[in-house]
Amino acid sequence: MIKRTDENPLQTVWLSLGSNLGDRLQNLIRGMGILLTGGLMFEDCSGIYETDPVGFLEQPPFYNLVLKVRTTLPPHEILVLCQQAEKALRRERALRWGPRTLDVDILLIGDRRLSEADLEVPHPRMKERAFVLGPLEDMDPAILKKWGFPPRRAGIDLKIPASDVRILLQQNGWLS
Ligand code: AMP
Repeated sequence: MIKRTDENPLQTVWLSLGSNLGDRLQNLIRGMGILLTGGLMFEDCSGIYETDPVGFLEQPPFYNLVLKVRTTLPPHEILVLCQQAEKALRRERALRWGPRTLDVDILLIGDRRLSEADLEVPHPRMKERAFVLGPLEDMDPAILKKWGFPPRRAGIDLKIPASDVRILLQQNGWLS
């Protein structure tokens, strides 16, 4: 068998998904469906937390979760896929930190550090965000320690446990 040398290594990728417009739960499930059919393999997910908005405060609360996947896609293809998922949900970008049907951020890609104009990993604001740090701590407290992120869960409220999120993914055909 010929070994391909141009193949990217299989890496663990952590993503943050959020929605605060329309049917927030449905937006998150559909967003995950697009990611999981676009080259990302499901590994684990957090429960869904309802969280206070940050930045622009006069907007409805978010539903947020963290998704752990594995993929051989290179970082910029992961970013393109995340943006496709946002577009598919017709995200409006009128206000930078304003309401959105779906926001997808790349938190971590394996052990990599990237500092490019369009992609910074670890995500530059993740260490301040309770809606990222809380779910990450639920899923893998060691990853917080490894990156030196503080545990933090102020202003977040678990609404849907991870086991129910998995069932919804299964019911929609995104997980076997
Ligand atoms: P936002 O509107 O807050 O979702 O920001 C999206 C912009 O942030 C895009 O233009 C991306 O190129 C850029 N960006 C930089 N680093 C990241 C990251 N780790 N995950 C997602 N988007 C990123």
